[in-house]
Amino acid sequence: MKIAVIGAGIIGITTAYELAADGHEVTVFERRGAAAEEASFANAGIVAPGYVAPWAAPGMPGKVLSQLFSRHTAVKLSLPLSGRELAWMWKWLRACKLETYLANRSRMQRLAFYSRERLAQLSTKLQLEYEYGQGYLVLLRSKKDSLLIQSGLPLLQQAGVAFRQIDAEQARQIEPALNPDTAFFGALHLPNDEVANCRQFALLLKNQAQRMGVTFEFNTTVAKLDSAQPASILIAGEDSQRSFDRVVLCAGLACAELLRPLGLKVPMAAVYGYSISAPIREPLNAPRSALMDERYRVAISRLGNRVRVAGGAEIGGSLERKRAASIQTLYKVLHDWFPGAVQHASSSITVQEWKGARPMLPDGPPVIGDSGRPGLWLNLGHGDSGWALSCGSARALADLMGGKAGDIDMHGLDISRLE
Ligand SMILES: Cc1cc2nc3c(=O)[nH]c(=O)nc-3n(C[C@H](O)[C@H](O)[C@H](O)COP(=O)(O)OP(=O)(O)OC[C@H]3O[C@@H](n4cnc5c(N)ncnc54)[C@H](O)[C@@H]3O)c2cc1C
Repeated sequence: MKIAVIGAGIIGITTAYELAADGHEVTVFERRGAAAEEASFANAGIVAPGYVAPWAAPGMPGKVLSQLFSRHTAVKLSLPLSGRELAWMWKWLRACKLETYLANRSRMQRLAFYSRERLAQLSTKLQLEYEYGQGYLVLLRSKKDSLLIQSGLPLLQQAGVAFRQIDAEQARQIEPALNPDTAFFGALHLPNDEVANCRQFALLLKNQAQRMGVTFEFNTTVAKLDSAQPASILIAGEDSQRSFDRVVLCAGLACAELLRPLGLKVPMAAVYGYSISAPIREPLNAPRSALMDERYRVAISRLGNRVRVAGGAEIGGSLERKRAASIQTLYKVLHDWFPGAVQHASSSITVQEWKGARPMLPDGPPVIGDSGRPGLWLNLGHGDSGWALSCGSARALADLMGGKAGDIDMHGLDISRLE
């Protein structure tokens, strides 16, 4: 089939690759000049399937409210919120019910475990070399932090995730550069989880896809999907539509806008986050792999010869307006755990400060499958776990489009969930 993929983030790239691997003729349309320039650009890179879970969880509304006015907060509402953001918050609140949370969590985890497997398969088969670290340490500053994670541990166990609760001394053996002056209660160690550079992977897979015949049209914006014939698309600046047998929408945050004229209302919100990536000053003082400060929900990852610190979840505001306090929280957490690990910005040193927008659906899982409109398929709404879910989502979508049974149960991952 002749297939158009809209968007060359991690979801669009993996989708294009899998469809080409199945023998389809694929063209990717991307409004930016290169792949992975938006949400997939500088994320934390964590691939920890047991930790992939809806943000809509019991207890979260209280947490959001209690942190509204604190300085180093994990979640921030940038008031005033728009009507759409308020409607999204309402749907999010409703999805925080225990029953809904558990159903969505199991859907996401099924996909996340499958995705990690597929990521490993592709990396081995295609000999992709990208920045990578093995092992994930969830740092618990106090006994209270430790108590708060206890209710999630049986779920990790049920999911078959390897983990160990350890004390601070044992954590220091795994990450010897942890600041000796920062006292903490302990950690949760997940030895099989990993961190990897999402953007690097996307660029490498894009090259592979190109070798398999995929055409990439960069600096090309899809202006409109035809509501009568959604497999025909209008490119900005062109007079006539281009027709395909199928179109797959992987446009991240822009999906909701493109779908609205077709009568498909997808409640998507931008949940903004930040990262800093700084060159390592002294490798002995830097982390070996990935860590999460559970209290501040800030990830610290070693990516090649840089350290990346990522976190923050802001609803409201804009991509252009960076909140200085959110960036300061990242520096504070880095300094608490790995002082002196990185070089600071100067005339000769560049520290990349980035703000990205997670394309988030209110209840958590992405939407993967047939849109219900002729020829239009969806792979969208991957929220805060798009990297961890990408390879599995793409393979599952390609199987659905090919009419194959697929490797995992896709129940609850299609658009009917949102109706
Ligand atoms: C701070 C932060 C930390 C994160 N950490 C992690 C993590 O540790 N692990 C994890 O799994 N996930 C993480 N994420 C989430 C992850 O980055 C996203 O879920 C993922 O990148 C979404 O990928 P995407 O391809 O759907 O979107 P995008 O990467 O945004 O791609 C969409 C693409 O579509 C293009 N596009 C849009 N509209 C059009 C149009 N009309 N025509 C043509 N092209 C169009 C855009 O230009 C863009 O390139 C994090 C996100 C943030 C912000």
